[in-house]
Amino acid sequence: MRLPAVKHLFKDGPSAVPGDWRGQLRNQIRSIDELLLFRPELVGHVAVDSARRWEADRASRSFRFATTRYYAGLIDAGNPECPILAQVLPQHVELHDLKSSDPDPLREEQHMPIPGLTHRYPDRVLWYLSHHCAVYCRFCLRKRKVSRADSAPRRDAREQALNYIASHTRIKEVILSGGDPLSLADEVLDELLTALRNIEHLISIRIHTRMPVTLPDRITPTLVDIFQKHYPITLVTHFNHAAEITEAAAGAVRRLRMAGVLVLNQSVLLRAINDTVCAQQELLSGLVRMGVKPYYLHRCDPVSGVSHFQTAIRAGAQILQALRGRNPGIALPRYVIDLPGGGGKVPIEVDYARGAVPEGGARFSNWAGEEFIVEDTD
Ligand code: SF4
Repeated sequence: MRLPAVKHLFKDGPSAVPGDWRGQLRNQIRSIDELLLFRPELVGHVAVDSARRWEADRASRSFRFATTRYYAGLIDAGNPECPILAQVLPQHVELHDLKSSDPDPLREEQHMPIPGLTHRYPDRVLWYLSHHCAVYCRFCLRKRKVSRADSAPRRDAREQALNYIASHTRIKEVILSGGDPLSLADEVLDELLTALRNIEHLISIRIHTRMPVTLPDRITPTLVDIFQKHYPITLVTHFNHAAEITEAAAGAVRRLRMAGVLVLNQSVLLRAINDTVCAQQELLSGLVRMGVKPYYLHRCDPVSGVSHFQTAIRAGAQILQALRGRNPGIALPRYVIDLPGGGGKVPIEVDYARGAVPEGGARFSNWAGEEFIVEDTD
């Protein structure tokens, strides 16, 4: 059977040096001035006018600014509301809520038996492995530590974490996270995956990474060979907008899928970036088209420096309700909210049940608002 060509289904992205992901990380854009040198057409543009440049400089002192040239190349200079620019450009408003909000609303640090290893749910642990990312996203949940060199776990903490996982048989799943765990060298990842695969009670290894979005060249043949060797691996990536879906990103996903990696997506509902039915429909359709299953749509957590991205709790449920019946089921993620104080994640769903029927059965409405009675059994 011939596989359908992926080419030309997605928009062309900026070109990069194939395979040279380390060079691209070394060559990150790390200041607004550098960004404007790279994309001179943004100079004087309303999106980066002098007032916003000053704000951006101040905010980037609180949470680092850096982006790959690939991701910066996706900025639409003609659109002051460009969803790519809004995700990377520091804004003064980030400094407004620093006192009223919480740097760690999910209490990850309080549930850390070993530095870097969060054990909140009995059956899984989240392992913070790197403070580096290809792009520092302004909405980041871990602004308190990502991009800060002093938050990088020490080498001996890795050993301790592995021992902890091996000695707690209730742990079934390990989530490699960060920062971006794919900023680690291939050899380190291979070593970690080998050690985890030797722990018999683990049933799942999940990797959380934004590299397919921000640096698709990181998904090299060597890396996918490592994933294939440690099959089965689940990779959860993080596309937030259809503008991030390019030929390069689709190629990265394709390489992963061909190596037997299950590729899921989690996104964050972000005010003025992707909080409309149309933006979500384009994103979700694009994900499925390139072989990614939409997994979670998160309500933006009340993290310090992020509240300007937050939407009303009901917004996500309303968007998904509008999409039900219009998008294939496979293109509908689960809308979830993290409870404050480390209470954990809960789904927020539209309830289609309309109550019991006196003569037996239950009443439901469907996606179009029509009502139906379903007979029940004892
Ligand atoms: S890639 Fe993930 S961890 Fe890194 S800054 Fe973005 S959201 Fe935060």
